[in-house]
Amino acid sequence: MIAFLERLVHENESEVRLEDDDGTSLCKGLELQGSIDYLSNGRGLAGKDFGGVHATKPLALIRPAGTEDIARVIRAASRSSNLTVAARGNGHSINGQAMADGGLVIDMRSVEDAIQVVELNGTTYVDVGGGALWADVLQRCVSGFGQAPRSWTDYLDLTVGGTLSNAGVSGQTFRYGPQTSNVAEIEVVTGRGDTLVCSETQHSELFFGVLGGLGQFGIITRARIVLQPAPDMVRWIRVVYERFEEYARDAEFLVTRHEGEGESFDYVEGFAFVNSDDPVNGWSSVALAPDQQFCPTYLDRATGPLLYCLELALHYRNVDRPSTVDMVVDRLLEQVRLSERQTFEVDVSYVEFLLRVKHAEQHAKANGTWDVPHPWLNLFVSKRDVVDFDRVVFKKILKHGIGGPMLIYPLLRSKWDDRTSVVLPDGDIFYIVALLRFNLSYPKGPPVEELVAQNREIIHSCIKNNFDFKLYLPHYNSREEWKQHFGKQWTRFVERKASFDPMAILAPGQKIFSRND
Ligand code: FAD
Repeated sequence: MIAFLERLVHENESEVRLEDDDGTSLCKGLELQGSIDYLSNGRGLAGKDFGGVHATKPLALIRPAGTEDIARVIRAASRSSNLTVAARGNGHSINGQAMADGGLVIDMRSVEDAIQVVELNGTTYVDVGGGALWADVLQRCVSGFGQAPRSWTDYLDLTVGGTLSNAGVSGQTFRYGPQTSNVAEIEVVTGRGDTLVCSETQHSELFFGVLGGLGQFGIITRARIVLQPAPDMVRWIRVVYERFEEYARDAEFLVTRHEGEGESFDYVEGFAFVNSDDPVNGWSSVALAPDQQFCPTYLDRATGPLLYCLELALHYRNVDRPSTVDMVVDRLLEQVRLSERQTFEVDVSYVEFLLRVKHAEQHAKANGTWDVPHPWLNLFVSKRDVVDFDRVVFKKILKHGIGGPMLIYPLLRSKWDDRTSVVLPDGDIFYIVALLRFNLSYPKGPPVEELVAQNREIIHSCIKNNFDFKLYLPHYNSREEWKQHFGKQWTRFVERKASFDPMAILAPGQKIFSRND
């Protein structure tokens, strides 16, 4: 492979000598503005990810200076017989999706793009590079312009290009759709090496293909994201439930309420937790402040192994009177809350609320559960099957918890655009289930193989029970499984691949297509 690169450098850029094969000269050979590191230094970052379950040895890590560098790398790969190229956002994938075994990994974070706010036809947008972190987008938009994107992920040290290649889901999704529903325009370098600006009306097949496209059709180098005025503060609320049916009924009521009557929460999520004093999985995971305490005496005697917690947020401004905020919250809550239900509330700044998972990251780094394997599992489960899913998966397989959050909350299909590459279960309402394991590494914690096997057991029980579900952030090893995942959208996905990356150069870590096909 290195021999190939030497030849490539030599053939295409004649001033570089064949034997001069270190990273600097290769960079010069390709005339990149950025740098290329194809020896040991680059492998650490490019060959691993947050999941920590897969590791590969890429040929090189490329730090592009901009879009033209990315196009050059893809065009160079296309002149080879087997080189692949993977964009790496922040490497927060679980199953090696941003890796390229023996190929070129592009570090998208190294592109220093300005974050620019623009106003067009009365709507405000932010133009950001594909490698920008959402946390930086937040800080820049709020502090510089008093504006913010409408749709988020829970954790913001993820890149714009990385989440747009999947969907980008959080508590605002019921209202504004996933992040893929909040983009007006993107700049993409396709697998053919062409740089195209696309939108709903311009190169629309590429635009919709790339959104949720698992990096298969092009590398997102810029995105134009819709903004709205940022609130100052958030009332952050948690309400405890004993029965899944009641929890689901209220969560669905709140996410559909916005459609009909207007007033609603700005954020609706929720999670399951263990009905015990287990310090990680149990009651103590619910309170929002150190002075709050879960009180088990509130509970019915006949409760099951798990409890459920709705997590809600209402935005407000500093000029709003506390009594007005209380009134709105009470009005919204009284429709779902039985008087004896435990409720926790705090007021935090909007930015603090959106950065809330940063605290969890710091905590995990301190207790040794961040830099260890994370065999996470994310699913979308149809409302039709969610009560059975709770019975079969949560109450049986996961009744002792997973050493981290077990999110489950409803989303509305009407907020997702069918033209994107994302696949969803049928029906108007489906739930996201996110099993976010934070276990100590073996032998202090369970062996990773056991956790991976538990994930497999969950998927098998969904199949066995005929649940209507799809994996989110999917991971499969065979073409047949991918075909099944995409279902009736498989043909469209394959056609898009043939149009935009016919040589199957891009995102080989997804294991959907291969250069040898
Ligand atoms: P990477 O993992 O680096 O890349 C993911 C895929 O996208 C790869 O195939 C890669 O090749 C491709 N890619 C990367 N950049 C580009 C680009 N510019 N153009 C084209 N393709 C590209 N997801 C949610 O929806 N909601 C959440 O709340 C949420 N929270 C998370 C919290 C944590 C702690 C972690 C680890 C993950 C979370 N995720 C969440 C998952 C996250 O959306 C995915 O990991 C996603 O891939 C983004 O991560 P990344 O930017 O590091 O991308």
